[in-house]
Amino acid sequence: MLDSLRSIVQEVNSARDFASVLDIIVKRVRKTTDTGVCSIYLHDPVSDKYILAATEGLNPEAVGNIRLATGQGLVGLVAAKAEPINLDDAEAHPNFAYFPESGEERFRSFLGAPVIHHRKVLGVLVVQQAERRRFDESEEAFLVTVSAQLAGVIAHANATGQLTRQLSPELVLSGGERVFRGVPSVPGISIGHAVVITSPADLYAVPHRAASDIDHELALFHQALEQTKQDLRTVHADLSEKLNQEERALFDVYVSMLDDSSLGGEVTVLIRAGLSAQTAWSEVIIEHIRNFSSMEDAYLRERATDVRDLGRRVLGYLQQSQVENREYPNDSVLIGEELAAANLADISVEKIVAMVSAKGSRNSHLAILGRAMGIPTVMGAIDLPWRELDGNQVIVDGHLGLIIANPRPEVLRAYMAQIEEEKILSADLERLRDEPSVTADNHHITLWVNTGLRLDSLLSLDRGAEGVGLYRTEIPFFMQERFPSEDEQRKIYREQMEMFAPRPVTMRTLDIGGDKALPYFPIEEANPFLGWRGIRISLDHPEIFLVQLRAIMRASEGLENLRILLPMISNIPELESALALVNRVYHELTEEEGYTLTKPLVGAMIEVPAAAYQVRDIARRVDFLSVGSNDLTQYLLAVDRNNSRVADLYHTLHPALLHALKQIVEGASAENCPISVCGEMAGDPLSALLLVGLGYRVLSMSATNLLRVKAILRQVSIAQAEGLAQTCLTLSDNSQIRSYLESAFTDPEITRLYSWTKSSPY
Ligand code: PEP
Ligand code: MG
Repeated sequence: MLDSLRSIVQEVNSARDFASVLDIIVKRVRKTTDTGVCSIYLHDPVSDKYILAATEGLNPEAVGNIRLATGQGLVGLVAAKAEPINLDDAEAHPNFAYFPESGEERFRSFLGAPVIHHRKVLGVLVVQQAERRRFDESEEAFLVTVSAQLAGVIAHANATGQLTRQLSPELVLSGGERVFRGVPSVPGISIGHAVVITSPADLYAVPHRAASDIDHELALFHQALEQTKQDLRTVHADLSEKLNQEERALFDVYVSMLDDSSLGGEVTVLIRAGLSAQTAWSEVIIEHIRNFSSMEDAYLRERATDVRDLGRRVLGYLQQSQVENREYPNDSVLIGEELAAANLADISVEKIVAMVSAKGSRNSHLAILGRAMGIPTVMGAIDLPWRELDGNQVIVDGHLGLIIANPRPEVLRAYMAQIEEEKILSADLERLRDEPSVTADNHHITLWVNTGLRLDSLLSLDRGAEGVGLYRTEIPFFMQERFPSEDEQRKIYREQMEMFAPRPVTMRTLDIGGDKALPYFPIEEANPFLGWRGIRISLDHPEIFLVQLRAIMRASEGLENLRILLPMISNIPELESALALVNRVYHELTEEEGYTLTKPLVGAMIEVPAAAYQVRDIARRVDFLSVGSNDLTQYLLAVDRNNSRVADLYHTLHPALLHALKQIVEGASAENCPISVCGEMAGDPLSALLLVGLGYRVLSMSATNLLRVKAILRQVSIAQAEGLAQTCLTLSDNSQIRSYLESAFTDPEITRLYSWTKSSPY
């Protein structure tokens, strides 16, 4: 059974769509358990019924027609109890329900296992047998294991809309709007048309497209086949002396597989039926890979690799012809499985209104570029059926991380109104640019910006930033093909410091690792956020760290505005080692090499819970502290900040975080150590008020949020902010805190500053 399980999983993983997954499971489970029937019932959220979705053994006409409420029949009972039921005489059970259309009377014994995901019963997997017998423990365990596998697949199908298509195709045919979630990575809203970008020659990444001109698609296909055959013949000729006769014969087999009597013919039929050449080719090849992978015979199983290889070669040629001909709409929303900066090369940037990637995080290179260009971006939309969206109208909500495909007219109108409101608000906020950043009772709150690219520095100056609270030095490192040299770095840092001088510029030393991987310094780890990150890498690679420190200090010559910030400090010895290296570089530069430099202030990030508890020990050793609320939240709550599956647990207003923030600011002030907050939280208007109420007087944020935060601070007094914070500290969960903060303000001038997250219909 273990072997069967392994091969079922393999087959399921290479299945083309959800319907094939169900089909594979019922067939393989029936065969493995050697029973008369295997069926899957799926929960339909619309009717709240369990519907027969696939069967091997019952009348196929019954699919879609047998529907059971929770608690109804044996299937409903499995769902209601959320545990397996194993009966040797099903008919004798009081819950037995008879469905003539199923032909079920022939089957006496019944074993049903619930399919559960995140505590919800999504379906029931059933096997039945004609003769009376009790299924043994190993069969029950097998069914439970398959159900657990199925749970993830069904949950994904549900999120992508495939489940609705399976259970209620009529809903989808009526034009259905679909909503998907990802990680909000660049704020803003755009409405446009999806342009699906695929990785080259990835058979599983081919978008589902219809042929607009069948003859043209056929011609492209035949040309790709000819090019591939030609390649194979060339390789064959080149290797002919090195191969024996059987090995040479393999090439002939490959070439003949491309013929009309084989794969070529199957694809031609699908193209004639209206599919594009790429779609038809990938569907046929995936089906063949699946068939070969499931074969018992090891030799034949291996042939799956050959088919895959052949599949990629032909697809490569088909895609080449497509790239040459592709036209992009003026409102392109780039969508892909793992969009990368390289994908921007083929399209002019003015045509891109939004970007969405199924994989990747807010810190991916693409998101960083999106921020620099002000293009609303959503990353990590893991359930997005991106292959199917090509050409669809989509709304991308970069504030909430939503992607809405084929929006209903009222949703479209709501978002268009929001875009207009944002424009008006931005114009109003512009007027605050030169106004002081003070509370209603005239206390100055210093507003700094987080930068990393030249573009966001320019925007920051335009918004009246008083300094740079966080310059993420890793960002320029992402833009290179190797570690930048000392002089290359010095120029980049110098430009930044000159732009802001005499205002302070806080240069954070390299913070790579976690989800920030340099293409030329890959780090493979099982738990990257708990692994080799930030200061840990710098200390292990003094040759990189020292060069960076030299470049930073040399860049500050004559400017006197440098502050150096150390990321990911989690204990005192590493802080002391880093400080010793900073001092060493300073002495080398000034005493041995003759540079005239003012000693920079050196600070530590408080972003690991350990540092929060040792804040006074740290504060005594540095010139300033900066709270990284993004990481502090993820480490305190044990919630990956980039994983959209747990995004609803990532709460920056979690009471635990507020208490930690209070303890940190009190610890810093007990040591007379200046402190700021530089996580995203500082740029959220309501959270910014809360931070001020907790005692923070310096906030650093992305330039886009600066005027909004300034506007709200100008309307509220310190005493009011303190009152808010005190009440928040007595509340016990994130949503209570958020609603309390929102209810505290009724003035429309204030509410419109933070309500963008509330105006979405979702
Ligand atoms: C943080 O963790 O809050 C922070 C500002 O650093 P980064 O987002 O670069 O990890
Ligand atoms: Mg951080």
